Amino acid sequence: MQQHSSYGRRAGPANRLVRLRLSVGSHRVKFTPSGKSRQQQQRQLPSTRVPELPEVERAVGLLRDAIEGETLERVEVLHAALKRRLPRGVLRALSGARVRTVQRRGKHQLIHLEDGRVIHVHFRMNGDWVIGRSSETLPRFARAVFHFAGGKRVVLEDSRALSTLDVHAPDVPLELDLGPEPFDPALTATTLRASLLRRRIPIKVALLDQRVVAGLGNIYVSESLWRAKIDPRETAASLDPTQLRRLLVAIRAVIKRATGGRYTQTHAARLDVYDREGKPCRRCGMAIDRVVQSGRSTYYCPRCQSVPRSASTNRAPRRPRS
Ligand SMILES: [Zn+2]
Repeated sequence: MQQHSSYGRRAGPANRLVRLRLSVGSHRVKFTPSGKSRQQQQRQLPSTRVPELPEVERAVGLLRDAIEGETLERVEVLHAALKRRLPRGVLRALSGARVRTVQRRGKHQLIHLEDGRVIHVHFRMNGDWVIGRSSETLPRFARAVFHFAGGKRVVLEDSRALSTLDVHAPDVPLELDLGPEPFDPALTATTLRASLLRRRIPIKVALLDQRVVAGLGNIYVSESLWRAKIDPRETAASLDPTQLRRLLVAIRAVIKRATGGRYTQTHAARLDVYDREGKPCRRCGMAIDRVVQSGRSTYYCPRCQSVPRSASTNRAPRRPRS
């Protein structure tokens, strides 16, 4: 039986024939064994799940349970882009290595081997793990395959083939260039303010920069700004300490909620603003609006995320849509 890491796009762990009903934004969609809903197949929904911190955390948890303490027998790389990154000798040298631990940092996954080497994986847009046995048929979009002693197998599956996989030698420092994790106690409104101080860009765009807070992406940034009642178009550097305190509380609440419990079945229904254009704001009833910032959709409430301070009223709030 194969198991996906299932961060909201999959038919569920263990049984690919099981069909789960889950709600994405306001759409009721049925997930098929192919992992794509019928609606997604008909049109490219902006709600296509790009893994962010909670999804990667879940993937890491499943991977950790599956491979910690296991010994690699061999690693196969099937996709040309990954082959270019990984010389054959590097792959061959992985045989016999034992996995010490699996760690998440931002949206990165780090498989630490006992000899100090680190296998560094990033799912990018669409990667996923399929955990099963070496005797099973490979998934259609298998890009790399980790075979373990005893017949266990972990497949990196990625229909868009953008995931990255690297092997770092023990003496090579891994420089991920990431800011603090959302729950890092060192991250405070004051440190957040310091890192935003020179950013004359919209706060939405600034928060996608992994050097500000690691692990956030398009969905949870929209959710956090809605929760904090901050206009996504407001200049990052102009946020005051009160707003930043609210923002930090909101980011933590959003990430915590998304990471909890039976995540894959319930999390989509918990999104407050993302992919809800034209639907009533869950707080004030105003129609949710969508703008495109740096090529990505931002969803927000034009009423409760408008700028309340009199100093900023030279910018009129957008007209509500009927
Ligand atoms: Zn509202």
